[in-house]
Amino acid sequence: MAKPKIAFYWCASCGGCEEAVVDLAEQILPVVEATDIVFWPCAMDFKTRDIEKMADSSIAVSFINGAVRTSEQEHMAKLIRQKSGLVVAFGSCAGLGGIPALANLTNRRKIFKAAYHNSPSVTNPDGVEPKPEAMVDGHKLTLPVFYETVYKLDDVIDVDYYLPGCPPTTNLIINAVSAILESKLPPKGAVLSPDKSLCSSCKRNDTKPEQIYMESIKRIIDVIADPEKCFLIQGLICMGPATRDGCGAPCIQGNMPCTGCFGPTDSCRDQGGKMISSIGGILEGEDPVSMQKAIKGIVDPAGTFYRYSLSSSLLGSARKEGE
Ligand code: SF4
Ligand code: SF4
Repeated sequence: MAKPKIAFYWCASCGGCEEAVVDLAEQILPVVEATDIVFWPCAMDFKTRDIEKMADSSIAVSFINGAVRTSEQEHMAKLIRQKSGLVVAFGSCAGLGGIPALANLTNRRKIFKAAYHNSPSVTNPDGVEPKPEAMVDGHKLTLPVFYETVYKLDDVIDVDYYLPGCPPTTNLIINAVSAILESKLPPKGAVLSPDKSLCSSCKRNDTKPEQIYMESIKRIIDVIADPEKCFLIQGLICMGPATRDGCGAPCIQGNMPCTGCFGPTDSCRDQGGKMISSIGGILEGEDPVSMQKAIKGIVDPAGTFYRYSLSSSLLGSARKEGE
């Protein structure tokens, strides 16, 4: 019997999701045994024409990581969608916009200015910038269009399932692949990780008093955190209350607060908004002066509350291409 065909593709991301597949180490062997990897340009020499030649829906499942920032990424996502039975948004960038989506706080002009003009390592006396089309020695050269906005994958194609994480953990990947191969998948649109908050499985949850009060907000680099106690009662922002469970809490085990890479649970529309509301509820002192003093400790509010989820947030969807 023919093995199910699978594919991997990489859009706007750091490459960590591809690394996560390689990190499966010997656990990848049963996957390789049970499937036929027909497209994985990061690991093997596949060309776009290889996938163009495939019949529509002939790939059982494609895992696409990364957000969509360029016309090439949008084109490839649409092509892979056409050739695939199932598409899984693999990792935070594909599912929520991820770190690349923090660029939605600025715009294309400012990014180009920083990258091609003002960076200390750039010498560009002619003010050259990449363009989608340029004539060089009589030849037309083309580059992908760099969009104004970073999109999550389901802004450009229909997505069947979501694997959260920056990157998704080994267990999660193995469970997802097994569920797909055994046709034991939840309803379409599901995030393939438990729908409860990270706090619910965190070993430090029991150290929280009935009512937490945060006097001030500190940064993890400024204190030596108690490795047993909940970060929130130590005045450190931990995104656990607003973050989906399923990662095994490696950051907490390493005595680092959760930064929220698993994204929100199903009932939460805006992960950053939920965490801001949680922090607002536990800050001590209700007068504006003590509130102002406390929130001064949050030096990077967008990076703290929306590190992985800006494209999927109420804020991130406010600005569209060309605005
Ligand atoms: S806030 Fe963080 S440290 Fe505290 S219980 Fe939740 S996940 Fe654990
Ligand atoms: S603890 Fe938070 S940031 Fe760390 S892996 Fe889990 S969800 Fe991601």
